[in-house]
Amino acid sequence: MSIRFAGIHHVTAIAEDPQENVDFYAGVLGLRLVKKTVNFDDPGSYHLYYGDASGNPGTIMTFFSWPGAARGRIGTGQVSATSFAVPQDSLGYWLERLLQHGVRFDQPVRRFDETMVAISDPDGLAIELVARPEVPNGEVWKGSPVPPEYAIRGISGVTLSERSEEIAENVLTNLLGFKKVEEEEGRTRYLSAGSGGSFADVVALPGGAAGQTAVGTVHHVAWRAPDDEMQEAWREELEARGLHVTPILDRNYFRSIYFREPGGVLFEIATDPPGFAVDEDPDHLGEDLKLPPWLEKDRERIEEVLPPVHLPHEEG
Ligand code: ZN
Repeated sequence: MSIRFAGIHHVTAIAEDPQENVDFYAGVLGLRLVKKTVNFDDPGSYHLYYGDASGNPGTIMTFFSWPGAARGRIGTGQVSATSFAVPQDSLGYWLERLLQHGVRFDQPVRRFDETMVAISDPDGLAIELVARPEVPNGEVWKGSPVPPEYAIRGISGVTLSERSEEIAENVLTNLLGFKKVEEEEGRTRYLSAGSGGSFADVVALPGGAAGQTAVGTVHHVAWRAPDDEMQEAWREELEARGLHVTPILDRNYFRSIYFREPGGVLFEIATDPPGFAVDEDPDHLGEDLKLPPWLEKDRERIEEVLPPVHLPHEEG
């Protein structure tokens, strides 16, 4: 297959309160809020993007905010955990930081020769900090409250909760080009072939109940397409395989297609360009509410319904 595949672009989850979300991801985890915008499909609610200094693909975690919505339930057909890569010797720092901020976490465990800490965000979303020997230096955000030597370096992988190991394996290897590398305690690890080096772990629960997507669960995972041509090739490939795939949608910071893989997880393929500097000065990302051109006419109405959100350092 001529389609190049380069790992995770972003993961999108659902939060209830946008301020609590900013306080946790920017304030505690030290990611940069790289874009404050609205859900283009539901403009009365926030879409918040976090990442490294520029919000490079592979470092981006995003949230739809659904105030007052019920909590979801983790189950099959879902991303059940999102893993962030941190430098090898940084977990001591992180445990202390999590304790200081009253974050719920489990004691560190070894998994596939890596040490990781499982934590819950304010909405109960499962996040992991995985210590990795080789983390890219990337563009660590200098304004982060976390010192650069400990900073999160990006999303290292996701765990997929699936009914069928075989179906998941088929999707990951034959469609997305992952390689099956290891198995351990009911978990199978697949590595992306591209330079991104993302992992997708599959935990198969044949009798498991399907998950419910709402607050505290992942909405979808997006894989990278380096350019529009590659995305178009992906789209054709997906259609040829009989998968229902959306038209190419303009998400302002990238272009996207969406499809549900046969196991039920919502996948997106997002282009690397144009990125978050397309409508904002790179030095001031995330500071103002940005709207795509087609929603500017509704700005006043949108601003009225959105609760104010401030960055953690803007106390008071
Ligand atoms: Zn997305």
